[in-house]
Amino acid sequence: MQATEPKKQTLTTRGYATSSPTSQLEPFTFERRQPGPHDVLIEIQYCGICHSDIHQARDEWGGSIYPMVPGHEIVGRVTQIGSEVTGFKEGDLAGVGCFVDSCRVCANCKEGSEQYCENHLVVTYNGTEKDEKTPTYGGYSSQIVVDENYTLKVPAGLPLANVAPLLCAGITTYSPRRRFKVGAGQRVGVVGLGGLGHMAVKLASSMGAEVTVFSTSATKEPDAIALGAQKFVVTKNVEDLLPVAGKFDFIIDTVSAVHDLNLYLNLLNREGVMVLVGVSEKPAEVAAFSLISNGRTLAGSMIGGIRETQEMLDYCAANNITSDVEVIPIQKVAEAYERTIKGDVRYRFVIDMKSLAAAADGN
Ligand SMILES: [Zn+2]
Ligand SMILES: [Zn+2]
Repeated sequence: MQATEPKKQTLTTRGYATSSPTSQLEPFTFERRQPGPHDVLIEIQYCGICHSDIHQARDEWGGSIYPMVPGHEIVGRVTQIGSEVTGFKEGDLAGVGCFVDSCRVCANCKEGSEQYCENHLVVTYNGTEKDEKTPTYGGYSSQIVVDENYTLKVPAGLPLANVAPLLCAGITTYSPRRRFKVGAGQRVGVVGLGGLGHMAVKLASSMGAEVTVFSTSATKEPDAIALGAQKFVVTKNVEDLLPVAGKFDFIIDTVSAVHDLNLYLNLLNREGVMVLVGVSEKPAEVAAFSLISNGRTLAGSMIGGIRETQEMLDYCAANNITSDVEVIPIQKVAEAYERTIKGDVRYRFVIDMKSLAAAADGN
């Protein structure tokens, strides 16, 4: 009898990667670890295109690691589980968001705010594993291996492509609304109607808030109303904002282009809160009067912890909320990046990973 062949130490994985800030994404084959005792192997079905994928692929935030396989809005099916896994079984739907591990021992990790890990957050791509050496590769790929504690359960019954953006855009807009207890009867402003903004509108309106969208493009008004907003304000001129000054309990600012925060702070009522979730390339100037008048708060928020992300997915399933998406084959990723930069997508591109097989066949 022949000895069984030793198990291959790694899993050959197909994906798309970029090799420098100025290169295009191209087919790329790489190795992932075999699932360990606590890992699940997920066959990726869809991955959303987040604006931060573009920033990082082009090294616009600095420190990018190449080759880079972007993608942190991942949904798929579990195809293998480690011996100690208890929360997943083969065939389960699963999701992966912006990080795949953290130190697990700092106060933030222990409290379920792993995204603010004090030691080392293992981001899904453009980062390193806990050894701080092995690069991480994201969701523009055929499969991913993730510890079950950092894997989300995707409720059945939702259209899977539309679920993918919940893993970043969804949790990014859900978490601050929850932290500041925004709900029924409150007046909520959403600045910018893109990938993040459209989720903010859906979530806030589902919770009974009265939602106003602020956008530079008048053509988005019908969409804003259809997504659940009551009002729409075109923000071409400062005067457009004067009628609503001091009217809002909570504003979520999703815009990543440089813009004047003071204009929006001025819309908050007494002790109103404005949360930034977009990242602009330059620091913003904030006048003290914009804050001390009415005792306002300017806050920031970054994605959410694992427990909260699961809560968000379950909430979305219960309320039938998903992202509005345009599904593309991976061969169209360069075009999708250009259109995302122009805001020409309603409201998120999602890559259908079946198209990777076509890439491998040379079709
Ligand atoms: Zn993202
Ligand atoms: Zn930690």
